[in-house]
Amino acid sequence: KKKIGVLAIQGAFREHCKSLEKLGVEAVEVRSVDDLKGISGLIIPGGESTAIGKQLEIDGFGDKIVEMAGEGFPIFGTCAGMILLSKKIDRSNQYSLGLLDISVKRNAFGRQIASFEADIPVKGLKGGNLRAVFIRAPYVTEAGPELDVLAAYAGKIVLVQDDHILASAFHPELTDDTRIHEYFINIVDQYRK
Ligand code: GLN
Repeated sequence: KKKIGVLAIQGAFREHCKSLEKLGVEAVEVRSVDDLKGISGLIIPGGESTAIGKQLEIDGFGDKIVEMAGEGFPIFGTCAGMILLSKKIDRSNQYSLGLLDISVKRNAFGRQIASFEADIPVKGLKGGNLRAVFIRAPYVTEAGPELDVLAAYAGKIVLVQDDHILASAFHPELTDDTRIHEYFINIVDQYRK
């Protein structure tokens, strides 16, 4: 059975595990470098990017993930996970893996509308608009020209892909719609071949 890891330091990791299991994938909770063995992809969940980042800084954990990504290992970051994948974080010097050529702004949609849901079109996704759940979400302020912008909301980039690295500003694990997880599993299947 195919195994996909979910970084289980803090945040919405259990929900991601459930989404993966619904799709017949074995979800592995990843808390250390050792847990990275035997998985074919990794999801970095939403939560608090500073808290998760602090753990990644310890014992070469983040460095190992960066090394694996350099060999084509697929990673999907959601919300705080998107922040942790980015090269640049607006007005912050917190830790990030720097695997995606994007700049992000944290809590970017403003306090008044900190959390909201919206139906958004996603490039190449069959079956109509996707219900996207935003919770104190970031958005992408700049994306490198080689990146594929898959979705935007209110003119802001909220879903982006660079080959085997995928990142969403919203939480696909909080709805019953599993299409974004399926999309990531397809990326993982390419890598396994
Ligand atoms: N605001 C959080 C952060 O900056 C992200 C929120 C989330 O992941 N839902 O880390």
